[in-house]
Amino acid sequence: MKPTQHSAVELGFDKSCVSRNAIKVVQGLQSSGFDGYLVGGCVRDLLMGRKPKDFDVTTNANPEQIKKIFDRARIIGRRFKIVHVTFGRGREREIIEVATYRAMPGSANKKGFRGAPKASSSGRILDDNVYGTIEVDAIRRDFTINALYYDPKRERVIDFVSGIEDAKTKTLRIIGDINTRFSEDPVRMMRVVRFQAKLGLRVSETIFSAIEKNAALLKDVPAARLFEEVLKLFHHCAAAKTWLRLRETLLLYYLFPQTVKCINQAGGDQFESLILSALNNTDERVGQNKPVIPAYLFAVMLWRPFQIECNKLVANGVRRNEAFWIASDLVFKRQSSSVTMPLRVKGPAHEIWAMQSLLENRIPRSIERLLENRRFRAAYDFLLLRQEIGEVSKDIADWWSEIQDRDVHHRQAMIETMLEQGRGNSNPKRRSKHAENKTTPKARNPTGKHNG
Ligand code: ATP
Ligand code: MG
Repeated sequence: MKPTQHSAVELGFDKSCVSRNAIKVVQGLQSSGFDGYLVGGCVRDLLMGRKPKDFDVTTNANPEQIKKIFDRARIIGRRFKIVHVTFGRGREREIIEVATYRAMPGSANKKGFRGAPKASSSGRILDDNVYGTIEVDAIRRDFTINALYYDPKRERVIDFVSGIEDAKTKTLRIIGDINTRFSEDPVRMMRVVRFQAKLGLRVSETIFSAIEKNAALLKDVPAARLFEEVLKLFHHCAAAKTWLRLRETLLLYYLFPQTVKCINQAGGDQFESLILSALNNTDERVGQNKPVIPAYLFAVMLWRPFQIECNKLVANGVRRNEAFWIASDLVFKRQSSSVTMPLRVKGPAHEIWAMQSLLENRIPRSIERLLENRRFRAAYDFLLLRQEIGEVSKDIADWWSEIQDRDVHHRQAMIETMLEQGRGNSNPKRRSKHAENKTTPKARNPTGKHNG
């Protein structure tokens, strides 16, 4: 395979966007006699005029050799060993990921490498610790635009697969046979959708039909890996677009089966607009560098399935408090069979839901505690989403919008006014107690401290 070489300057690379630490790593490798290139997403981003968020380096040195070159280097990973080279501390800390060239499954032995990667019966690669050459490394990558090699010292870009042309025309092209590449690693199908949404790439019908054909292979991918990939899908700056693209494929069904069933049912449009609104908010927050939590995403995606289960139980005579716990456990459990929900996600997602009825009922003695709760912000944002689709009255949402910005005296006054106005002519204390007993799932943790 004959690569083409290009001048990074002519391609318009903005070197000021390249991490100095990444350059140090490349130089460290090269001065020890090895190859060293920036590769993958960072080169693609430089080529497309975007600022890379992290930097990957590739080399012909093996992990042990890489480790010897750098002071703060650590070998990580089992499926494929890579080396993390760390620079700086605290907020300044930066990790540069260094990987040895990969080998091709199957062909590796013939070409004299250290043996072929192990694969499952469906062709999924299980153990990848065999090393190849730069040419083989290039064709092992997923998309042509992700297979460019940049030597920042010589200012050269090496292209084995016409990735530069595809980046120019904003085309996502898969390297090699599409079905084989998807069965080797079904997560690549999710990556197609992610990059399509994030970079506005054109994706051919052939790729989409291959996704439809292979989507079920996601069932073979460990649920914990899918959790990480789901976060990548929805916690970058194009979550809403990603949702719309995913929605056109079967992938969504294998990631969030309960969600898909609900949006396809009567009234599903409303639930989908809640999801889209939430994802638009996420995009805004990510754009402003504000934190986003996985629990919120899962609380949104599973809200309607949870409501349906909860109402079913209540209709069968289970008390609402109990139904709340049973339904959320059930919905989380079902979700975790496709995409793992770690405890650190389940806990806060549960709290966001549990706080909904507390927010709606505005029980005077719980109000201060709710405002102090560290999940208040997420639960309040969730309440606003529900208000947008008509599940919660605007008065209540506005009331919470106002009270959180008030001092203690004003808060007290607002509570008094609410009691006088809204609670009709019955004794407000009796009514609020009644409301609490009947409709509020009690927090499992009465101290107000939460996990996650
Ligand atoms: P991002 O900007 O989101 O980090 P990225 O392309 O850098 O995008 P990474 O997951 O950091 O994504 O992967 C780095 C590179 O490793 C990719 O650009 C691609 O070359 C290769 N790669 C990652 N995942 C796969 C995969 N599943 N199959 C083949 N190659 C992959
Ligand atoms: Mg990357």
